[in-house]
Amino acid sequence: MKEMTLVSSLQRYRCWKEKQPMVWNTIIKSRRDWSIIPHLHDYGQARAAFSWDKARRELEGLPGGQGLNIAHEAVDRHAAGPLGDHLAMRWLGKTGKVQDYTFGRLRELTNRFANVLRGLGVTTGDRVYVLAGRIPPLYIAALGTLKNRSVFCPLFSAFGPEPICARLAIGQAKVLVTTESLYQRKVAGSRSSLPHLEHVLLVGDDYKSADVPGTQDYRRLMEDASEKFTIGPTDPEDVALLHFTSGTTGTPKGAVHVHNAVVAHHITGKLALDFHKDDIFWCTADPGWVTGTSYGIIAPLTNGITSIVDEGDFDAERWYGILQDQKVSVWYTAPTALRMMMKAGTDLVRKYNLSALRFLASVGEPLNPEAVVWGQQAFGRPFHDNWWQTETGGIMIANYAAMDIRPGSMGRPLPGIDAAIVRKTQGDGGIDGGVEVIQEPDVQGELALRPGWPSMFRAYWNEPERYKQCFVGGFYLTGDLAKRDKDGYLWFVGRADDVIKTSGHLIGPFEVESVLIEHKAVAEAGVIGKPDPVAMEVVKAFVSLRDGYEPTPALQRELLGFARARLGTVVAPKEIEFLPTLPKTRSGKIMRRLLKARELGLPEGDTSTLESES
Ligand code: ATP
Ligand code: MG
Repeated sequence: MKEMTLVSSLQRYRCWKEKQPMVWNTIIKSRRDWSIIPHLHDYGQARAAFSWDKARRELEGLPGGQGLNIAHEAVDRHAAGPLGDHLAMRWLGKTGKVQDYTFGRLRELTNRFANVLRGLGVTTGDRVYVLAGRIPPLYIAALGTLKNRSVFCPLFSAFGPEPICARLAIGQAKVLVTTESLYQRKVAGSRSSLPHLEHVLLVGDDYKSADVPGTQDYRRLMEDASEKFTIGPTDPEDVALLHFTSGTTGTPKGAVHVHNAVVAHHITGKLALDFHKDDIFWCTADPGWVTGTSYGIIAPLTNGITSIVDEGDFDAERWYGILQDQKVSVWYTAPTALRMMMKAGTDLVRKYNLSALRFLASVGEPLNPEAVVWGQQAFGRPFHDNWWQTETGGIMIANYAAMDIRPGSMGRPLPGIDAAIVRKTQGDGGIDGGVEVIQEPDVQGELALRPGWPSMFRAYWNEPERYKQCFVGGFYLTGDLAKRDKDGYLWFVGRADDVIKTSGHLIGPFEVESVLIEHKAVAEAGVIGKPDPVAMEVVKAFVSLRDGYEPTPALQRELLGFARARLGTVVAPKEIEFLPTLPKTRSGKIMRRLLKARELGLPEGDTSTLESES
């Protein structure tokens, strides 16, 4: 099998530069008129000078050398210093309510929650789950749990009862903080099968314990608890977080992270998201996913900046309104949201004054070049793609602020991160024989990282074998395929499971999808390999259309021709099928494995994280 694609992303980027010089020049220019010098401005020097020990020294540590605790770095050290009255978090309710929390106020509330846990007999290492929308108690419980040295595990509130109970059971949750309505709808029915779940704390103004047996009143417990709490000695290797993966490729895994991860959260916030004093930061991810915790809670707080938390769901006008009214300066979102904004068009965004925006970043899925360029047109600034996983706990590869953006590339490894493109070798012990690092540029292989960064996962909860299999030949293998160009930019090809093998070529779905969404009628595209007796697999694309376009045979033919002209006959889809929407995980990732299973009439596998398709 030849490891090549006919039209590599790099070549596409080059032709882009020729085809769209205006756009390209604007992108270059936008990085020259900095109002603030980016933290990471000399890449070579920053990498050479970097060490994790130095990064650790940017944090304080618990008083008296008692170790390192995420919540101390996020809240207490700022509360006790000049930032005590600084706005740490502004919460925007669905219906227009606004609540502000200074670092000082957050300290009191998280102390109270830690005392609640202590009062309930919840101790070090016990799992405290939160199942809630983006409401303040979620954030307070997360940080209070970390203060108590218990393990915080967020569950996405839109999950159905089964995935929720499965995750509660896997992690043997001792405490669950949720709302009455979520509890009644999603947990109560299976409570008897959750023997470890000792305490259910319900959030809500109308709570009456008599109505909901086996539960307690969060508000009452908080009111009765003291607002003084001293964090006990915390070993940096103590378990802090349990995060389930998105389940894009298979059964979700519970990635275990330790308190030391805060070193990576903090420094990547600074280097990859370019946090500066007085920034107003908005991470749109839900804390049910790792992004919403590492960057929606921890990193902005450790960096002492203000975070916006919006309870509402995506709505282009609402979002533009928030960016404008809250004067957001750094914005971290996801390709799926961006594609929805593209769908809504550029006219809408132009109605808003977004002049406070300084830095835009995206994560979670490959960011199509078209979306980078659209961002430039719509916001006057490009989106900076970055790459990481639940397992890595923090950003590993980024288009950092001072970097020339090559649309379609996920950037370069951050200081402290050694990334390689590798291929597995067949040693005596099969794949345990090791890996070979691919040195030549533009050759596809598996993206691998040298273990050792602080936010690396320490286990998959209760799955030691699955964890062990991720490490081969001194590398952590990410399961993603990528290439590195001669300048060190990394290009995402696809998940190893999604790559299509056709007529002797390996094709990454991402570049085929990216070409399709360049067409004005296409909103989203998901590409799979469909078994074929001759070619092994052929490329099939599923496409959803922008508003105003009809799924006609003529458009189908046009799209096939459009893709063929750009990708060549081998890589271009042979078939295109229109769908009203593509199946996605609740974190917004296109589930290609589901498209494939449906295409082949096979069982759909684990769909616990599938977004409702109604
Ligand atoms: P599962 O492991 O359960 O299948 P998942 O991999 O989607 O789910 P996450 O840890 O949330 O769970 O997502 C990480 C993955 O998302 C990466 O391995 C990669 O495939 C994809 N990803 C994240 N950021 C990017 C990016 N900037 N470009 C391309 N892919 C990305
Ligand atoms: Mg994964």
